[in-house]
Amino acid sequence: MISLSQVTVRYGDVTAVDDVTFAVPPGFVLAVSGPSGAGKSSLLWAIAGAVRPAKGQVEVDGLVIEDRPAAAAHGVVLIPQGNGLARVLTARENLSIPLLSAKKPSDEVDRIIAEALAGVGLEESGDHLVEELSGGEQQRVAVARGIAQQGQVILADESTSELDSTNRERVLDLLRNEARRGAAVIIATHDIAVAESADGHALMDEGRLTWARRL
Ligand code: ADP
Repeated sequence: MISLSQVTVRYGDVTAVDDVTFAVPPGFVLAVSGPSGAGKSSLLWAIAGAVRPAKGQVEVDGLVIEDRPAAAAHGVVLIPQGNGLARVLTARENLSIPLLSAKKPSDEVDRIIAEALAGVGLEESGDHLVEELSGGEQQRVAVARGIAQQGQVILADESTSELDSTNRERVLDLLRNEARRGAAVIIATHDIAVAESADGHALMDEGRLTWARRL
């Protein structure tokens, strides 16, 4: 269970997230939509422990998240906007890096990576350098990297923005499967169809969160 109470994120004088309180139980998908600059990424970064709230707190299963390492240790996975991949590594290498700390046997890691790449339809592209892939393919690799981590909380920041409708549905199915497996999933999106497909839909504007459809 991920829960936020009165989370406020500030950058100097700018209040990017303003007193936001909600919870997402395991098994649910929440979409957060709103205009550019509304605070969606900042909200996800706060949940991921990547920015520290000026006020309020984020809890995973009742434990307060203090920073990114603590969030990662509690299974909070961020699929960042702009994919966050290392361009000079292969797709497979990008997927393997977050799995290093899990200390799983190498044949199991190979299987998890192969399944994640197949899930996004890129089973043939594992050995390609990220910089050789198209923008949409890179976005699918970033989703595969997020899925491969088998997290408890999956934060997807505009993860379908560069995809055609087939791949968008494929990625949404994967995220719904993560919820079915027991993860809490939050998707920041501009895409109203993505928002409508989620279990709940929150709107952000100037850092404030309201509900279009409650979870
Ligand atoms: P969204 O994801 O909805 O586009 P962001 O969270 O990226 O919104 O941005 C919310 C506000 O915070 C905007 O006014 C943006 O300019 C500002 N902002 C975001 N990141 C930073 C930063 N690192 N430093 C200063 N201001 C930032």
